[in-house]
Amino acid sequence: MSDHYAVVGNPIAHSLSPQIHHAFAAQTGEDLLYRKLLAPLDAFAECARTFFAEGGRGLNITLPFKLEARDLADQLTTRAAAAGAVNTLLCQEDGRLLGDNTDGAGLVADICRNLGWAIRDKQVLLIGAGGAARGALLSLLAEQPAHLHLANRTAAKAEQLADDFSHYSALSGGGLQGLRGRFDLVINASSASLDNALPALPEQLFTTGGKAYDMVYATGPTPFVHWARAQRVPASDGLGMLVGQAAESFYLWRGVYPQVAPVLTRLRRGLGKKNN
Ligand code: NDP
Repeated sequence: MSDHYAVVGNPIAHSLSPQIHHAFAAQTGEDLLYRKLLAPLDAFAECARTFFAEGGRGLNITLPFKLEARDLADQLTTRAAAAGAVNTLLCQEDGRLLGDNTDGAGLVADICRNLGWAIRDKQVLLIGAGGAARGALLSLLAEQPAHLHLANRTAAKAEQLADDFSHYSALSGGGLQGLRGRFDLVINASSASLDNALPALPEQLFTTGGKAYDMVYATGPTPFVHWARAQRVPASDGLGMLVGQAAESFYLWRGVYPQVAPVLTRLRRGLGKKNN
C-alpha cells in the first residue's frame, strides 16, 4: 500500500505541493500518495492528529499553521527550533512527530544552485521580519554573507529578529524608512507582493551586478520582480524556493533527494511562465 502524505493549510486549494511531490515520486520510484488537507482555522492540531492516527507518514504545513505545527511536534530539528516554525512533520517509527523547517534550505538551494547567484561574502538585504524571514535566516547566515541587514516596515520587529540571532556578528536590523546602503542580493521576504504592492524601498539599492529575489511567486512577474527588472537587475520569484523546500521535505521523509530542475521547469511551463 502507498504511504500517505499531505499539505495542510487554510486556504489550500491553490497549493502546488501535490503536483511537486507526485513528480518527485515518479522520478525516484517512491510509492506515495500526497493530497491537500483543508483544516478549519481552529482545528489544525485535531486535523493533523487524525491524519497521523490513520497512518499518514508526513505532513507539509502552510499558512497559517506553521507555529501550531511547531507546538504539535514532539521534537524539533535545529533549523526548525531557530525558525520557531515548522513546515514539515515526520511521523517517526515510535510515533513521535519530528518537526522540521525546510523553507530556508529551499531558498538557498534556489539562489545558489538553480540561479547560480552567490551569497558568500556578499552584502545581503532581507526585507520582512515575519515567519518567512525568520525561517530563512539561519540558512542564509550559514552561507556566510559579508553582512546581512534585515529591514522591515515595522522596524522594531527587524531589530528584535536581529537581536534573536545576535550571536552572528554580520547581522543588523532596522526599518525600511531610512534604509541606506547598496546590496549585492536583495531578498523580499515580505508578503507585499500578495497584495500586489511593493515595499517602500529607496531607488539606489543595488550594487553593480546586484540581484533580486522575491519569495512570493505568481503566474506573471511580482511587483518586486518587475521593479528590479525595470532597473536591469536580474530578478527571480519564489517558485524555485517552493520546489526546493519540497525537495528537502521529500528527503526527510523518504531518504532520497529528488532532482529539482526538471520539476521546476515543468511547473513553470504549466503556469505559462516564460522565465523566472
Ligand atoms: P508574515 O505574515 O509572517 O509576515 C509578513 C511580512 O511582510 C511582515 O514583515 C510585514 O511587515 C511585511 N509586509 C506586509 N505587507 C507589506 C508592505 N506592503 N510593505 C512592506 N512590508 C510588508 O508572512 P510570512 O513571513 O510567513 O510570509 C511572507 C511571504 O513569503 C508570503 O507572501 C509567503 O507567500 C512567502 N513564502 C514563500 C515561500 C516559498 O516557498 N516560495 C515559503 C514561505 C513563505 P510588518 O511587520 O510591518 O507587518
